[in-house]
Amino acid sequence: MDRIPVFDGHNDTLLNLLLRRRGQGRSFFERSKTGHLDLPRAVEGSFSGGFFACFVPPDPRAGWDEESALRITDEGYEVSGSPPLDPEYARRFADKMTALLFRLEEESEGRMKVVRKAAEIDDCLEDGALAAILHFEGAENLGPDPGALEEVHDLGLRSLGLVWSRPNAYAHGVPFRFPSSPDTGPGLTDAGRELVRECNRLGVLIDLSHLNENGFWNVADLSDAPLVATHSNPHALCPTARNLTDRQLDAIRDSDGMVGVNFAVAFLREDGKDDADTPLETVALHVDYLVDRVGIDRVGFGSDFDGAKVPKAIGDVSGLPNLLTTLEEHGYGEAELRKLTHGNWLRVLRQTWGG
Ligand SMILES: [Zn+2]
Repeated sequence: MDRIPVFDGHNDTLLNLLLRRRGQGRSFFERSKTGHLDLPRAVEGSFSGGFFACFVPPDPRAGWDEESALRITDEGYEVSGSPPLDPEYARRFADKMTALLFRLEEESEGRMKVVRKAAEIDDCLEDGALAAILHFEGAENLGPDPGALEEVHDLGLRSLGLVWSRPNAYAHGVPFRFPSSPDTGPGLTDAGRELVRECNRLGVLIDLSHLNENGFWNVADLSDAPLVATHSNPHALCPTARNLTDRQLDAIRDSDGMVGVNFAVAFLREDGKDDADTPLETVALHVDYLVDRVGIDRVGFGSDFDGAKVPKAIGDVSGLPNLLTTLEEHGYGEAELRKLTHGNWLRVLRQTWGG
């Protein structure tokens, strides 16, 4: 079988390139041994693009960080109390990350393209350029005025997560907690509801990953677009607050939306442990479960490359063919693999963006 291109629902590579301490100063254009994703390794792994997240980390002045907020419990863990960001700070940081993505596009001399239409992704898959969707992981990135959505849409934003795992003016994200239901707090605020309508009007994809369950149902009621969780897994196989219950999966199926399988081992393993020694078989079981529940046309990948610990057997983006081999062994034929690797994302994006 020819190498099948992979278009993917989530990476945090921009953050790793922007924060030198996190990314160790690596370049997107040189093959590195650190992190998960750069252009040479993308080519090796037939990674043809995906959602590039603008994630604004906690403001160091707020004195909160994930490691010190982590509490080990009898059954698992809990990371609590990630404070809301100052929207001015969030907007400034998001502007820098957005500028970085466009700078990469320019420096790539045609090898990478920030895409605004599904047809542009088709072209990239055809000619081998990397297709990047500008995605905001948290609507506080818009700044204090939600009306800024139109402005960033004009710039190229095509996907918006209402929240990361913290509250903001629009909604409440789930804390990282295991085991836990995703029902962890109140639903959307009035501003959040308004933002959903704006996303629908402008054709911006609404990402449900990180949103709590009440918020999820509010979006399901309000939105006229397919329901999409770009990087989440079935709660039935790994009961973290970040994963989706069967009821949520059924709503995604009924809206003809989709789920991107997250390779983060902590969201894959039934024990919730952050252990890279996790077999590819476990990823395949998540794919099987989702295909069974929502259908072969509504499952894709949402790797979380550069944002999470992934199974050793994938390692980084160049290891994607290993996963495809495992899925083949699980009985997926070429036509099905083409849906899982990129076809379904293209279908949902075409439906959501129009054209
Ligand atoms: Zn995330």
